[in-house]
Amino acid sequence: MKIYLDGRILDAEEAHLSVNDRGVLFGDGLFETIRAYQGRPFRLNRHLERLREGCRTLRISGIPEDGEIEEAISALYRENVGRGDAYVRVTVTGGDFDGSRTLTRSSRPRCFIFVRPFEGYPPEFYRRGIRVTVSSVRRNPHSPLWRIKTINYLEPLYAKQEAMDRGYDDALFLNTEGYLAEGSTSNLFLVRSEGVLTPHIDCGILPGITRETVLELCSSKGINCHEGFFRLADLHGADEAFLTMTTGELIPVAEVDGVSIGRQCPGSITASLSAAYRKLVEEELSLANLPRDDE
Ligand code: PMP
Repeated sequence: MKIYLDGRILDAEEAHLSVNDRGVLFGDGLFETIRAYQGRPFRLNRHLERLREGCRTLRISGIPEDGEIEEAISALYRENVGRGDAYVRVTVTGGDFDGSRTLTRSSRPRCFIFVRPFEGYPPEFYRRGIRVTVSSVRRNPHSPLWRIKTINYLEPLYAKQEAMDRGYDDALFLNTEGYLAEGSTSNLFLVRSEGVLTPHIDCGILPGITRETVLELCSSKGINCHEGFFRLADLHGADEAFLTMTTGELIPVAEVDGVSIGRQCPGSITASLSAAYRKLVEEELSLANLPRDDE
């Protein structure tokens, strides 16, 4: 396995991070996870834009240009994956600690990239939907840090572990005001008679790129959709619900803490948006038919 680290392609065993790295010491860094289909990353530019927005918030400057990141991804793809689908992760850290305990740094940022064969989720997640539980952790809508993809992922890891311990597949976050926020590593959508609904960015969520794509699909298909402030009762009474994420695309939600969502899972709107998402990926990347996730 080869890794890109600060301008060089190295064997994984040679790619080391300093113990003085601000990412290690403070969680000072950002990342993007991109899914590539048959050698082509989907919406890479949008992911790199989000990475740069995050860099502005954390005042990290001097990360590699988009062209260098794209070339590194292609080189790692050839070495590590070949023709199949891949999981791509681009990570940036604040670089070496220089004594500053603010966001002002004298050191150069660090950047490393992994490209690995894509493993996917269990097919039954798509066929029957997943069971989720509401986490004891709450998102803070006043924090600027949940709008960017920082490398501090302990809240999602904690929530996912809590869900597993309770016998569920995944966790949902409410925010500190009691509104629905997002999944542990995904965004949330509800389908109700009013249309397709998703928590507003001001609920303290990551502006997901899959979420954005699904919102685009709804408007191009003429499906009513709204970003807003919703309660758990709105989810309990929904006809359908699904999570969105780059790696898993759209994952239907069958149950929330023992309450079944809707009469059938996946519901018809979820199924039609999932198919539309796949079609969009194929068209945008000029691919032949993609295998379905539940095959
Ligand atoms: N929220 C959180 C907390 C996440 O970790 C992710 C996964 N990156 C998402 C939402 C979904 O974002 P995207 O569609 O860009 O993968």
